[in-house]
Amino acid sequence: MKKILVLFTVLLSVNCNAYSQKKCGHQHSMKSVSANDTRSDSLDITHTHLTLQLTDFTNQILQGEADISFTVKVDNLTIVDLDLESLTVTTASLNGEDLAYTHNGTLLRITLNQVYNENDTFELHIKYEGSPITDSSGWGGFYWTNDYAYNLGVGFDAAPHSFGRSWFPCFDNFVERCTYSFAAYTTFPKKAFFNGLPDFSYIGFTDDTGVTLNQWTIDNAIPSYLVGMAVGEYDISVSQHFTSENDSVPIWLIAPENNLAQVESSFTNLSAAISSFEEFYGGYKWSKVGYSFVPFNGGAMEHATNIAYPLSLADGSLDYETLMAHELAHHWWGDYVTCSTAEDMWINEGMASYSEALFMEHTYGADAYYDWITDNHRDVLLYAHNTDGAYLPVSGIGHENTYGSHVYNKGASVGHNLRTYMGDAAFKSASESFMSTYALQSVSSEQMRNHFQNYTTSDLTSFFADWIFNPGFTDFSIDSKLITEVSESEYTIELTISQRRHEAPSYFSNMPVDVTIISAEGIDETHTVIISGELSEVSFISSLAPKHIILNRDYNLTPAILAEEKLITDTGLDLFSYAEFRSDINEMSDQDSVWMRVECHFTGPHETQPQAEYLISSDRFWRVIGDFPEEYDAGGRIRYYGSESSGFTFDEGFFDMAQDHGYSESELKLIYRENASSSWSEHLNYELNTLAVDDDYIGRIDFLDLKQGDYTWGFSTGETSITEISSELLIYPNPVLDRINLSQKLLTYSSYKIVDLSGRVIQQGAINGSSIKCKSITPGSYALQFYDTTGKLNHQENFLLIKE
Ligand SMILES: [Zn+2]
Repeated sequence: MKKILVLFTVLLSVNCNAYSQKKCGHQHSMKSVSANDTRSDSLDITHTHLTLQLTDFTNQILQGEADISFTVKVDNLTIVDLDLESLTVTTASLNGEDLAYTHNGTLLRITLNQVYNENDTFELHIKYEGSPITDSSGWGGFYWTNDYAYNLGVGFDAAPHSFGRSWFPCFDNFVERCTYSFAAYTTFPKKAFFNGLPDFSYIGFTDDTGVTLNQWTIDNAIPSYLVGMAVGEYDISVSQHFTSENDSVPIWLIAPENNLAQVESSFTNLSAAISSFEEFYGGYKWSKVGYSFVPFNGGAMEHATNIAYPLSLADGSLDYETLMAHELAHHWWGDYVTCSTAEDMWINEGMASYSEALFMEHTYGADAYYDWITDNHRDVLLYAHNTDGAYLPVSGIGHENTYGSHVYNKGASVGHNLRTYMGDAAFKSASESFMSTYALQSVSSEQMRNHFQNYTTSDLTSFFADWIFNPGFTDFSIDSKLITEVSESEYTIELTISQRRHEAPSYFSNMPVDVTIISAEGIDETHTVIISGELSEVSFISSLAPKHIILNRDYNLTPAILAEEKLITDTGLDLFSYAEFRSDINEMSDQDSVWMRVECHFTGPHETQPQAEYLISSDRFWRVIGDFPEEYDAGGRIRYYGSESSGFTFDEGFFDMAQDHGYSESELKLIYRENASSSWSEHLNYELNTLAVDDDYIGRIDFLDLKQGDYTWGFSTGETSITEISSELLIYPNPVLDRINLSQKLLTYSSYKIVDLSGRVIQQGAINGSSIKCKSITPGSYALQFYDTTGKLNHQENFLLIKE
């Protein structure tokens, strides 16, 4: 399913004023459902036949009869609990014999007339009627709108979200599946469309009695939330799609006659969408592809083979075709293999959202895929934690964020990254066999991990831990490089790559990162290295002499970085709106051009040269890489968002800390270093603009002399050593023999690192106890760094280690 949100147009750029993002305004009212999901362990529903009177549009009353077939899985069964919301039950019977029942408006409890034991079967007949409800969120349940009646099988506020119970009795969970048949009575010219195929030829639909009998059957077992119907004065466009297995599948587009031409135009690329998913996930397994167009503007719902789709969005344009693709993709992710619980909704929604990118790649090419992935990644990095209220993992999400941004958008990034870890061939084989192995079943994230692991040597335990089970992001960059020319076409490249964490509890492991070598002639060559932990030393042979070395250039992974490249041929302003940066070229000759890559990192820079002069941003820095002509003069602009009123909440940590230390906004400095191995110093030519309000820590910095290097902000400590921030004696003795004693003040920190003069971490651990024992460290000068619970470096003491 997909919600359509009318969002503010998000145009964050260094040129725009900050805007405020509206938080989700849903009321999350919980409804109690007393029947529990373990019912499916004692009783299996094998088939449900619904007979529905859908003729009373005036009073909006539904009359229904459900014939539900059960197979018993335990002994001594005497009670059946079913979910049915609001509607009134008038009869429950078995083999023509009335049964006792209670119905509290949610739980329908039927007492059987005899004891049933394992492998027994029986069929309940339940008559009910009433006005079916819509979910309190406005999204989900049953709708009578003018000349239409239709359902949406999920309720955003409903608990559980599965919402078949709004119009028929069922086990309303993601696990129970059965086949369905339908007999619906409508008043001509209204017709009813359900899952599966009709039981008679639909040619004409003429019936002069005034009432039409519509009969449908779906032979694939589906959960209750995927049962979908639409009644209206419909016409049909039927075409054929030929699957990869050379079968043909009918495509049904069900819309009012006057809308059919527009619908067909908007769905021009539907067959391409089917092909794109067949290529990655295997053949389409259902009896038809069906979309019923309904007067609902809030989104679409993936009812198996009878998708409910907003009529208003099939306007003849291709503007919404990713929504078309998304719902179709659910016929693999969600409908064919379903998440076992709402906690793993990313398996349905994240993968269906990722499939939008595959559709774009298949239909419009690699650039369209790249654009989809990078746009989605930017949304995740900038907004998902605001929209959902916290940095969340993708799996194990709470009820109120089942349909949130982490599940859909970060879940889509996860699909993309999984493809990168595995490679295309393995990702396709694993997906296709996953669909067969778990066909018409439900799965957990762990089952998916274990299945996919069989198809790759890449470590998916790390992958699932880092990207799915834990919140946050990794960030990485090159700290140092050593290039050795072996011959004219052979260079040994040795790199130190540091990893930093953006709201993640630990460093990522076994992560395949692309390293692109660009020569002076502009030729490039890409190698993949595996990085783990805080610092990774990697080496490989390149056939090119590198002028630039770039990580993750094609966005095969989605770290906490927004990077953008431009080739600039004219003077003037250029917005790197993706990388949150603006350049301003004042002077350049007509023949020259500038190639520039700007990376905005959402972490503080890794300091290979720890230094005391500046309190350096722990939230963001920019790395500029480029080919700059000799006759050239340019400037740049960055913005900082140090308080929530900016609408952005990623620079707050540092500014909160700075405020605690008594630094005011007007003291903020632009600091620069040539590369990660050099020291930071204050930029010589810049202007701080604190904008309207002082000390809201929202503002911008314009600077001249734009060149390669790292840029960030900081405050001058006025000191030459961090140790002098405090005049107290915090560690003792110093020099150290083999044990460092910590003062009370330092015990508030969570972890420490001992770092040598070259920035190498020699020893690290948690702060527990009032001293740290130095384990076989060579005598010399070291820095002892203290980190808070979020992993931020907060304090440093220097010491000399001696040996007796
Ligand atoms: Zn969806």
